[in-house]
Amino acid sequence: MPYGKYKDFISKPIPQGADRQEGPGFGPQTAFRQKTDEWFKELRDFNPTKRVYDIDPYVEVYQFRTESSGPAESSCPGNLYGLLSHILDSSGGLVWMWLIIGPERAMLIDTSFGMGDLKGLVNEITGGMPLIVANTHCSPDHSYGNCQFDRCYSHQLQAPDMEWKQNEGIRTYLMDEEGKPIWVEFDPKDFVPFKRYEFIGVPDCHIFDLGRGYEVELINVPGHQPGHSTYLDKQGRFLIGGDSFPNGGLTGGSDFHADKRHAKDAFQGSWLPSEDSMRKCTTYRDALIRLSKRLNEFDKIFCGHGVQDLDSSLILDLIETCNQIIADPDNYDELHGDRRLKKIRGAKGSGLSDYMPYFKNGV
Ligand SMILES: [Zn+2]
Repeated sequence: MPYGKYKDFISKPIPQGADRQEGPGFGPQTAFRQKTDEWFKELRDFNPTKRVYDIDPYVEVYQFRTESSGPAESSCPGNLYGLLSHILDSSGGLVWMWLIIGPERAMLIDTSFGMGDLKGLVNEITGGMPLIVANTHCSPDHSYGNCQFDRCYSHQLQAPDMEWKQNEGIRTYLMDEEGKPIWVEFDPKDFVPFKRYEFIGVPDCHIFDLGRGYEVELINVPGHQPGHSTYLDKQGRFLIGGDSFPNGGLTGGSDFHADKRHAKDAFQGSWLPSEDSMRKCTTYRDALIRLSKRLNEFDKIFCGHGVQDLDSSLILDLIETCNQIIADPDNYDELHGDRRLKKIRGAKGSGLSDYMPYFKNGV
């Protein structure tokens, strides 16, 4: 696919203030911001596995697990890749997609905005292995590249949103009336053309088989969206968390309850009512408690944004923070518009965001 003048887009250094939104609590003084900046600089400047492929220069490819670092019995060549791309809307910053290479099949989790030939890139990395494509949730930065594939999976509660977003106009909110990008410079010609695909909604605990007993399980963690899905790689002992964990700054966790930006408008949000009870902090906390009962099955977490390879014990810190919010919703630490922020105890220096966002009526 021929690329426009922004073909070196991903190689540019992160603009100041990128990878999280501005706001109180997210100034340069916070441990989260500092850790994130340092971590990304180290990764992008020095990580020896970093590669940008000609077929899709919009993505930086990193290898997070190799054959030697994984459990011996899985014996997969270079088992986990992180695919980093830019967020093209007002959120700004960067978003991660994840590629797991199993013994017989590969699995791509999330598809970003559909800028550049993601399908060609994945084929090149895997050597043309059969591919399963799945989404953590339906937000533009996680699912608008779905149209390049024939079939995509996620939790069944995502079905109405995924169906609603089967529309040629999903990316028009990124451009002004003259067709120029509003927030981030890119060439709209580099979007893969829209095409309908088959969405398959699966129940909680659905198993994806990557061959020879290599299993990845979908685990529903409602909050950010009712059908938000995380993916547990049982052999690799890690969880792909998407936006279930507040790791991108002001988003993640249960923050979308009653958030007008994420109501049904301009294909940016969700068809489901923003006041849905499945977005409440209590529902989110209960899902985290269920997840915490399985902490013996995974050691690390990889998220949709921010610093990666986080310790799975952060789930316990998040449960404690949710409990504090539920016990006393008015006792927040920072306010960002009408979004309240509660300090996450134990997050300092872990790479996890310092704060859990929520809304007054979303507890
Ligand atoms: Zn996201």
